[in-house]
This record gives sequence, C-alpha cells and structure tokens, in this order.
Amino acid sequence: APAETPQVVVNAHGLPYQNARLPVKKRVADLLSRMSLAEKAGQMTQAERNALKSQGDIASYDLGSLLSGGGSVPTPNTPEAWAKMVDTYQLRAQATRYQIPLIYGVDAVHGHNNVIGSTIMPHNIGIGAGRDPRIAERTGAVTAKEVRATGIPWDFAPCLCVTRDERWGRSYEAFGEDPALVTAMETVIQGMQGARNGKDLDRSDKVLTSAKHFVGDGGTGFGSSSTGSYTIDQGITKVTREELEAVHLAPFAEAVKRGAGTVMPSYSSLDIIGDDAGPVKMHAHAEMINGVLKDRMGFDGFVISDWQAIDQIPGDYPSDVRTSVNAGLDMIMVPTNYQEFTRTLKDEVTAGRISEARVDDAVSRILTQKFKLGLFEKPYADTGNLDEVGSAEHRAVAREAVAKSQVLLKNDGAVLPLKKSQKVYVAGSNADDLGNQAGGWTISWQGSSGEITTGTTILEGMKRAAPDATIDYSKDASAATDGYDVGVVVVGETPYAEGIGDVGNGHDLELTAADKAAVDKVCAAMKCAVLVVSGRPQLIGDRLEGIDALVASWLPGTEGDGVADVLYGTRPFTGQLPVTWPKSEAQLPINVGDAAYDPLFPYGWGLTTSGRTPAGGELTLRAVAVAAKVLQATGRGRSEQARELVGTARLIVQQKIGGHITEASAKPFAEADHLLLTGDPAGAVAKLTAAYRAG
Ligand code: BGC
Repeated sequence: APAETPQVVVNAHGLPYQNARLPVKKRVADLLSRMSLAEKAGQMTQAERNALKSQGDIASYDLGSLLSGGGSVPTPNTPEAWAKMVDTYQLRAQATRYQIPLIYGVDAVHGHNNVIGSTIMPHNIGIGAGRDPRIAERTGAVTAKEVRATGIPWDFAPCLCVTRDERWGRSYEAFGEDPALVTAMETVIQGMQGARNGKDLDRSDKVLTSAKHFVGDGGTGFGSSSTGSYTIDQGITKVTREELEAVHLAPFAEAVKRGAGTVMPSYSSLDIIGDDAGPVKMHAHAEMINGVLKDRMGFDGFVISDWQAIDQIPGDYPSDVRTSVNAGLDMIMVPTNYQEFTRTLKDEVTAGRISEARVDDAVSRILTQKFKLGLFEKPYADTGNLDEVGSAEHRAVAREAVAKSQVLLKNDGAVLPLKKSQKVYVAGSNADDLGNQAGGWTISWQGSSGEITTGTTILEGMKRAAPDATIDYSKDASAATDGYDVGVVVVGETPYAEGIGDVGNGHDLELTAADKAAVDKVCAAMKCAVLVVSGRPQLIGDRLEGIDALVASWLPGTEGDGVADVLYGTRPFTGQLPVTWPKSEAQLPINVGDAAYDPLFPYGWGLTTSGRTPAGGELTLRAVAVAAKVLQATGRGRSEQARELVGTARLIVQQKIGGHITEASAKPFAEADHLLLTGDPAGAVAKLTAAYRAG
C-alpha cells in the first residue's frame, strides 16, 4: 500500500449534504448554503496539475478541478501511477472545509490515450466511417472503463464537430461532415456515461462526458487574420441561422438529450449571416450558451471553458472573466494562473458585475455532477479495473472498430482481399509505425512517430494474419520488387493535434515525396493496394489509375490487426466515407449537398469484399424496398438489418455504375446515407432504386 493510504470518513460532520441517501438536489442546496464566496469561486476553477505551486494550493484555493493537458503525464506513465497521482490530489482536497472532492479531467478522445499500454481506439473519423452506433457505444464503454480505473471521472470527449473543411487540423476528431452521421455516433455518450439520467455515473466503469466544442468548431474557414496566417483552427464560422441549426447545433441537441454531463465551448467565433453582431467568440456568446444551450435545449450539466480560451475574449482580464461567466460558463479551464482567476472572479462578484445568483447556479451545476459521480462517497480510484487497461478484451473491441472503419475506395481486379498464399511486398511510411497510425492525442498532445506504446502495426497484423506467407517490407521500396504477387503500400500523415495539421507536408493534403515514390515504384512493378493512414483525405487522384485497390484506413490506433482482418478477408470491408474525398485541394471545402459536387469519391462511398455481393438488378432492389418498408413500419428503421438492406441496395447501384463517379451518380448515395441515418431506410432504398434506373 502507498505510504499515504487515503482514508475518507463519510459523514464526518454528519451534515445533510454528506448523506448519500438524500436526493442530489437537497445535498447540493445544503452544501451551497454553507459555502463562502471564496469556496464557490474555487469550485469554478480548473487548474492544470503542473501549474500547481504546491499541492497545498488545492485546499488553499478550494480548487474544484484539475486536469492533465495533453502530455501532462506522471512518471512512470503507467495506469497505476495515474491512479496514485489522482488519489494524491484528491487526498489534498479532503483538507478543504467541506471535503469537496476534485473532479479530475483528461482528454481521452480515442481510448485512455495519455497512458502507455492503454487501448487506443481509431480516431473519431474512423468511427464515423464504421457507421455502427453499437461499436461507437462499445468503444466509449471501453474508454470509460480504462479512464475511471485510473481514478479519473471526467473525459473531455466526444468532439461533436461537424467538419466542413479537411484542412482543419482537428478533422480526425470529427465523426464526419454530415450532422446526421455525427448524431448517430453519439451512442458513444451512453457507452461512457451509461443511462441518460446519470444514474450510472457512480459506477467504477463510467465517466462524465464533455460534448465539445460548442458550437461551429468544424465550420471555420480561411479568412484574413491579424497574423496573416491560417485561421481555420480557432477561426470564424460564418453561417446562416438555418445552417447553424441544421449542421452545427443539431449534434448538441442530441447530446443534451443523451445527458452529456458537460459541454465545452469552442475557441472559434460565430458570425451569423444576417445578424449585425459580427464575429462573437463562443466563450462570450450569451445567446448561444445561456439562450440556446441552457434555456432552449434544457442543458442542466455544467459548461467548462476550453484551455485559456477566455483570455481570447477582447478586453482586459476582469472583462474576460465577467463576460464568460455571465455568458453561461460554469467552470473555467484557467489553467495556469488560478490565483489570478479566483481573485478576479471574487472581485467581479463583490463589485456586482457578476451576480451571486449566477455563481450559485454555476456551483450547483458543478456540485450536482460531483454528487452524481459518487465522488463525495468514493473520491479515490477504484483500482479493481486497473488490469483491464489495455486488456485483450478491450483490444478486441478496438480491433473490431478498426475493421469496421476501413473504407474500400477502389478494388479493380479484386486485388483485395489478399490470399494467405500470396507473396506480398509491403512499403510506405505508415506500414510499420504505431505512432503514425495512432495520430495526435496519443501519449503526448501532438502524438509522435514510432513505438510510443504497446500495440500492433499494420505490417505486424498482416504477418500475424498470414504467418506462413512471405511478407517483405521496405519502407521506401528500395529493395528488389520482382517475384511478388501483390504490393501493399501504406502511406499517409505523421501525427499532429489542432492547428492545421501535418505542417511537414506543406499545410495541404499532399502525400510526402517518399510516399509518392513508393506508390509509383510498387504499383508499376506489381498489382498493388494502397492504404492511406491519415486523419483526413489525401490527394491521390493523379495516381488513381495506376493503383488497383485503394483503402482509407484513417488513424486506426493500436490495433493494426483490425486492418489485417479486412486485408485478408477475415472480416468484410463495410466502411463508408464519413467525409467527401476531393480531387484537388482547390475543391476544398467540399461537402455533400454542395451545388457543384464533383469529388474523387463522394461522401458515403465504400465498396465491400464480403463475397455476399448481390447478383443485383431491379428485382433484388424491389425485394429490398419491401423489406425496408417493413423495418420502417415496425420502428426498426435504424437497426442493423436496415443498415444491411440499404448496403445491399447501394452495392447493386455501385455495381452498375462501376468506379465511375459523377456528380449525378454521387448524389443519391449521400442522400440515401442521410435518410438511413435519420431512420428512413425505405426512403434510402427508393433513392437508390431511382439512381439504378437512371443508370
Ligand atoms: C482543446 C480541447 C481540450 C483542451 C484540454 C484544448 O487545446 O481545444 O479540446 O479538451 O485543450 O486539453
């Protein structure tokens, strides 16, 4: 046992708020009525753990929360060390007058991704490609279990950005470009939190979520900026009210219904076309936070700011504090100068520029979640699940998610699936690099190349899938290329987080020169499949003709086995594009529904290798249409069977048009996809049938 074995004495004072049998509302009211302004200000403060001058400051400043920013990890970076670290901070919080526990938060955006040895899930873009609400939910459940096992009850996830321009460096944090797809993947919230009413939050395998970034984070564009550089990250979202509602707000309305416990505003500004207000920073946007989120949608959790985001509000610091708190922010991720923040907040309240009622509301919201999480009764890590961090069972879920995320964009001559008897030549920068396939937000904030944690690369997965096959690897394709049956070239990006992405690649979606050369060499020498491991589409149109099979692999995480599963046909390819794949950078932004839509591959595109490819034709389509109607009538319009039916119809049409995608042929796929996601499989099949007839 650690030297400082934490001891909690429940009901130390026998006060009503400490009575776990009382309703949360009563407990909150009782505790709030006892608290001083300083204690309330403390609850509204979140500091970065590394910013603490001393651990004693947790009690001296009555801090409500701590976070680990990306890469703020204990040494050694093990699950046990995390649990011990968080417990140590909690122990300090027990020294506050009312023993109010901290709520510790991390960004576990694809598994418990700060921790070496954890299960790293595909980034959200891959989950969106999988289009399977059940696997989304299961990945959420695994993530929650690993996070809570280390004593952490709060996850700054999921990102509900609807990404409209893939030059944004956070594109991979989005489930896709269609709000219906993003909304359908929000089952992840239930995976993490359990029941919608929050009654599961005190379980040792559940965490509080944070729907982020409210609102319009994925809608920013390039504009002029004072620095003259790209502004797409933390930039301005210029939209009509209609577009704001339909595209960007809709996923948050769903998150509120699902009971997401916290919401994080976006760094970006909102510029509503037709309003005279001009761009308003979301952290200052009272109409959106107080008005839309809290009043209209009825959000009763708490609003946590983004990292130092209030500092970006025009004006001095006191004005930043009062503007954001009055706009509806409940807790501020300060995260370093917590002394100044608490002082300023108290001053603003004392001066009457922030009302006491506003502070009481904020603190009530925060305390409510702490009570629901059971932190007053059990502030420390329940280490019973520590062994499950990175367990085989959890990796199996990730592996399934990876297989589902793979999108087969082209497959001439049925190059895929590979046969285990084939002699395979593997090349490319991302074939054997765990860090690259995990992407940003892995172990460190930006992520990094190489063997940064435990897992299986795509090459290793292939070798495990076909142990008797000859599988040779040359990263830059510098070895002799003769005598092989097939080549697999795995290209793509190196890790990044936020900003504009893979800066080494020149701020664009170009492949590196080395990857291009590897593709050219291998594909000239043999039949080849190219896998793109990246957070967003890469420009490959110029080379498409010379490539036999093309796969969008996204950022699969630690389980390269999942990629091997579809490459070798153990599982079928079923993924569909969650974003439009452009022909050129000049086409960006490009999104389904655009007036002139002429992509390389349309939103929703994805072939299969299941072997269950239907004979196809009008007759089959008619049978499918009948079945879809039945499913809809019985209220099973979003079921697995409905997905399969629409998938069948899609394949029939794809077979007819071949790989030849035009503006006209792309549209019905996207429309059908949207109809299915919104629970209308009959409508989806009707769309596809019409497309079939149109030829
Ligand atoms: C990101 C947030 C994240 C926060 C805390 C910020 O830079 O925008 O998504 O939750 O950092 O790490």
